[in-house]
Parts: sequence; C-alpha cells; structure tokens
Amino acid sequence: KNANGNYTVTFIEGDGIGPEISRSVKQIFAAAKAPIEWETADVTPILKDGKTTIPEEAIKSIKKNYVALKGPLATPIGKGHVSLNLTLRRTFNLFANVRPCRSVPGYKTPYDDVDTVLIRENTEGEYSGIEHEVVDGVVQSIKLITKKASERVLRFGFQYAQSINKKHIRVVHKATIMKMSDGLFVSIARDVAKDFPDVKFDTELLDNTCLKMVTDPKMYSDIVLVMPNLYGDIVSDMCAGLIGGLGLTPSANIGDECSIFEAVHGSAPDIAGQDKANPTALLLSSMMMLQHMGLNEYAEKISKAIMDTLAEGKALTGDLGGKASTTEYTNAIISKLQ
Ligand code: NAD
Repeated sequence: KNANGNYTVTFIEGDGIGPEISRSVKQIFAAAKAPIEWETADVTPILKDGKTTIPEEAIKSIKKNYVALKGPLATPIGKGHVSLNLTLRRTFNLFANVRPCRSVPGYKTPYDDVDTVLIRENTEGEYSGIEHEVVDGVVQSIKLITKKASERVLRFGFQYAQSINKKHIRVVHKATIMKMSDGLFVSIARDVAKDFPDVKFDTELLDNTCLKMVTDPKMYSDIVLVMPNLYGDIVSDMCAGLIGGLGLTPSANIGDECSIFEAVHGSAPDIAGQDKANPTALLLSSMMMLQHMGLNEYAEKISKAIMDTLAEGKALTGDLGGKASTTEYTNAIISKLQ
C-alpha cells in the first residue's frame, strides 16, 4: 500500500494492441474505484553486454511493487533477440503458470459449461533448453525434472486449489513411459498431498486427460490440474479452444516474490491501432491479479459487469462476432459499474 492507501502495480502496456486494451483496463478500474495506482514501465529491449534485455527501471518497478499487469510483447523474429517473455520469466523466477478457462455465457461454442483450472510448471521439463548433437544425424534433448521445482509448483497448486475452493488436485503425467522424470513429479505430488488432507488428490495419464476433456469438459469443473511444462503448454491451449479462443483467456505467472498477470494472446499486429481489440483477456487477468492481492470484492464487482456485458451480447468486439469497438465495449462495462 502506498501513502494514499492504494496499491501500486507495475503496468507493462506492451506492443500492438497492448496500449488499447491497457487503456480499457485503466478506465474500468477507475470507474470501479479499485484502489490501484498504475506505474507504467517501459520494457523496450536494451543492449547490455551484447545481449538484449529489459531495462533496469522496469525490473526495479516490479521488484518494488511485487505485482505487475502485462500486455502482449512482440518478439522480433531473426534479429538475435531473446524472447522478452522468457526474460521476464527467468528474471523473476515465475515458476507457476495458472490458466483458468471458463465458458462465457452468451458466447456460443460447442461446449457451454467449461470451468477448468490448469497449473503449468514454468521453469524446467522439456523447456530447459539442454540439447546437443550426439553424432551427425542424432540429437538429444534433455527433459529436466527436479525435486525442488516440482515440489514448489505442486505445493503452490494445493494452496491455490484451497484458495479457489476447488479442493481436488489431479496431476497429469506420462510416468508409464517417462518412469523416472514424470515418476519423480508424481511421487513428489503424493508426498506434498499428505500436507493437505482436506484436498483430494489423484493422477491421470495425459492422453486420457485430453480424450476426456474434449468429450465432456464438465468432468473437470471441480478439479485443479497440475502438470510438467510441455504438457501444460499444450493442454492449456486446448482448454482455451473449448471456450472460444485466445481473446478470452487470462493467465497468472506466479514467482517466489513477484507475480505477473497477462493475457494469453499476442500483440495482434493485424488489428493494432484500429480500436478493434477485445480487452477481455487482459481484464480477466487483472481480475486474477485483484484476487491474488486479496481485493476479491472489486474482482467480483468488475467480473460481474464484464460477464453481464458479454451475456447481453449488444456490445461485442469483432472476434466474438460483434460490431463494437474496444471503446464501445469498454463503455458498456463501465455503464454497469455506475
Ligand atoms: P496473436 O495472439 O497476436 O494473434 C493471433 C490472432 O488472434 C490474430 O488474428 C489477432 O488479431 C487475434 N487476436 C489476438 N488477441 C486478440 C484480441 N485481444 N482481440 C481480438 N483479436 C485478437 O498471435 P501472433 O499473431 O502469433 O503473434 C503476434 C506477436 O505477439 C508476435 O510477435 C508474438 O511473438 C507475440 N506474442 C506475445 C505473447 C505474450 O506477450 N505473452 C504471446 C503470444 C504471442
């Protein structure tokens, strides 16, 4: 909390549609009188010791405020840049990626009542970047699983399940084949589960999860799924597809100290600057942020205005089949807050 009794949060507006959807979030927070003051941070990459990185000011701001909301960052291709998203993830050791997917009433998809929560281990597994050529024509890629990183994400998973009142953790794995690596993940999960006697715990094979999820997603409504990195990456996009795609899916990157909340989608260069972008994913990310900060009352109030606006269907953006601009959609939400 700052001297005015508000909480200061770092805001990385991002590229492409970033500034437009960020403006929408700021206007809606102001209308809801949420006790948040934004500190805008510029993450235009700078060159340091021959490597591109994010400016020190931005890092300082996030370290000071502990919480950041982030718009999409465009990763320039083929210029020797490392992904800024990866840089942020490494700088702040953002070990867990939380992705809820909930059906939006009024937006028709083949499934009406999806309500899934997936937690992805965010630091190791197949994404460790350890690859080499053994001999010509033979390469090896190492999937690294450590007790430390597994226990950290699993413990967080159990705590998160309790906090959102879905008291059931299911670990998704392939330990039948990857007996040692996924086997370790599952065995640590069993140990951690003993510390959470009021949370139900079981495991499921990845292929089985995919089959059941697209057959009847309702089976997962009361469960929090936790899984190693690559599985989480793929299954979370599959879940996003069930509710109508990227314009609607928020995420949280949880770290030891700092957490960064962001939409799952990218900078949408094809519609940037045209007042066409759907700000819902960033808005829902900011709702996860409010919950993380214990400001549930504001999260509920704003979420209701968003959901009511979507359900009414009068001011939908183009990606949801409507004709409204970002501004019109934003104003429709604001009118429900007054
Ligand atoms: P994208 O998500 O930006 O766009 C894919 C399609 O979805 C486009 O047609 C776009 O118009 C549409 N779309 C995305 N978000 C929308 C929204 N909020 N409202 C309406 N329509 C929306 O994916 P891309 O084109 O593959 O990537 C563009 C850039 O974004 C790349 O530079 C990529 O590296 C970057 N990116 C960043 C992040 C991130 O910062 N987390 C994530 C993914 C991609």
